[in-house]
Amino acid sequence: LAIKPLHRKLLWGRSAGHCAICKCVLTDEATDADDPEVVIGEEAHIVSGRKSGPRYRPMAAADLDHYRNLIILCPNDHSRVDKQVRLYSEVRLQEIKRDHERWARALRQAPLPVRLHDLRPGKAIPLSRIETGAAFVAEFGGCHGLQHKVPDDLTDDEIDIASDFLQDMTDWMDLWSGLGPGEQLRATRDIGRHIGELRDVELALYAGTRHQILEGGIGHPQRWRMAVLVIDRMSNDQDDEGKRWAIIAPGS
Ligand SMILES: [Zn+2]
Repeated sequence: LAIKPLHRKLLWGRSAGHCAICKCVLTDEATDADDPEVVIGEEAHIVSGRKSGPRYRPMAAADLDHYRNLIILCPNDHSRVDKQVRLYSEVRLQEIKRDHERWARALRQAPLPVRLHDLRPGKAIPLSRIETGAAFVAEFGGCHGLQHKVPDDLTDDEIDIASDFLQDMTDWMDLWSGLGPGEQLRATRDIGRHIGELRDVELALYAGTRHQILEGGIGHPQRWRMAVLVIDRMSNDQDDEGKRWAIIAPGS
């Protein structure tokens, strides 16, 4: 009886082409002189089909060449396990195979790319009008990042004020968790001053929190809080009585 292709695929796939004992790589790169792919691994029987063979016990022919009774080994280890049958018993070889396949699985699971996704995708984010530095800090002090939206028709002066503000916010946000109490106090005053400058040119600040999950890379997924800042003309307030929502397309 021969080993069926399915069982052979399972065997090689689950062992990731490494010897179950010494973990050496069992396929060689092509060389000019030889065949394109050289396989040096061996499909070894755990229980032999021959009465005088290693670990023999009566077994149906179909079970003998089954994936369950096979293990991938390098030629050295194949010969070792077949000579040292007391050390490499049937139970011990099944253990080695199980551990090896777990090892091979971990090998394939390379770290996932890092990405952010919304906790509640497509859900509108309520924004509130922010009037003071303290109000801003209380709400957004621990945020991990920020995104913003400003009107398209800002004058040059307004752009200067808004961009100064957004740049400072980005800097503070990056530094926030490392700031001492005194520095946080100064940052709060600084943010308040920026909000005052926006107010002087009739611009209002609205802000809300976008809850996201950061996953991939090393470690467990973690909560990620993104501050959403919207700068808008105060004159637009009459339309919506100061209530604002930010609707953010998933993935943006
Ligand atoms: Zn080996």
